[in-house]
Amino acid sequence: MSWPPIREELRGIEPYGAPQLDVPVQLNVNENPYGPSAECVADIAESVAAAATTLNRYPDREFVALREQLAAYLSGDTAHGITPAQVWAANGSNEVMLQLLQAFGGPGRTALSFAPTYSMYPEYARDTMTTWKAGRRADDFSLDLDAAHDLVKSEQPSVILLPSPNNPTGTALPPEAVSVLCEAAASYEPNGIVVVDEAYGEFRRTGVPSALELLPQHRNLVVTRTMSKAFAGAGLRLGYLAADPAICDAIRVVRLPYHLSAVTQAAALAALRHAPELLGKVDLLRAERDRCVDWLREQGLEVADSDANFVLFGRYADRHAVWQGLLDRGVLIRETGPEGWLRVSIGTADEMAAFREALTDVSATPNGARA
Ligand SMILES: *Cc1c(COP(=O)(O)O)cnc(C)c1O
Repeated sequence: MSWPPIREELRGIEPYGAPQLDVPVQLNVNENPYGPSAECVADIAESVAAAATTLNRYPDREFVALREQLAAYLSGDTAHGITPAQVWAANGSNEVMLQLLQAFGGPGRTALSFAPTYSMYPEYARDTMTTWKAGRRADDFSLDLDAAHDLVKSEQPSVILLPSPNNPTGTALPPEAVSVLCEAAASYEPNGIVVVDEAYGEFRRTGVPSALELLPQHRNLVVTRTMSKAFAGAGLRLGYLAADPAICDAIRVVRLPYHLSAVTQAAALAALRHAPELLGKVDLLRAERDRCVDWLREQGLEVADSDANFVLFGRYADRHAVWQGLLDRGVLIRETGPEGWLRVSIGTADEMAAFREALTDVSATPNGARA
């Protein structure tokens, strides 16, 4: 019969993940193209060496020092303070969100988001046997707030996942929308929790506030962040959230003991000491992003407004052919989003020049035909 005896709904499913290819220009997974300085590397190495002397012992299960530093960092991004009791962390914000689904989702419960959106969300739902429901975004990828509100009221989801800025479209969510949906989710029993996934929060345009500002008003609001993107620490695997301490306590029930290794805690603490340096390229990347949007529009392409470090553009008759054409020219981008669209991450000025040159090239071939 069938081997291995995997859960029926998982049979034949390909594991999620963008192709990891060794090409000169990698603009496919929204990493920060700038690595740490020698000084930062030395500090991380020293901290990890110190942690290594204690590796016979389990790490601090409550990662107190790290929660303190993450709270201090977040407090710099909001008018009111964030306390360590409001902070939780795990191996990437993907793990944080899976833990949220483990604690607040489950059989008989529903998780809701609005497509097109992050392709991992339905996987957390599937893996926790939570019913998955996706509303639609408007044609410009913004949220139709009235329709979203009605859907929350009728579905009464236990978890609502709202990325802001959204991946793969780059669309930020106005704070009014977050408030309206938090109130809608608090109007039924048991309340739904609203997760604003700010993986790209640090890239938002000036004047766009963080959902952190709304935490005092809504106890069912959770704001997740990550060190993977703006913080230039994708290899670190450290994601975190800020929420009501009762939500952190609920996650403690489902987390695996000692889920954050001593090495991870030491490296993350060292990286946080270098936050100004690691985040120092954010302004440069934002300017490069705006240039990329302008340039793609000059080419007559449709381009989604972006508050993130990537840009969604199209539409192509055969997007795979365009993706492959770029790859053949040494530029790896991402084939994702609605049919006909492609997503490019913002790299260094040189990488973006290579991207523009390759796309100009491909556009001159039959493969570059527009939809
Ligand atoms: C990249 C990304 C994350 C972060 O994932 P990590 O597990 O923290 O690396 C979370 N949400 C969205 C929408 C993302 O694109």
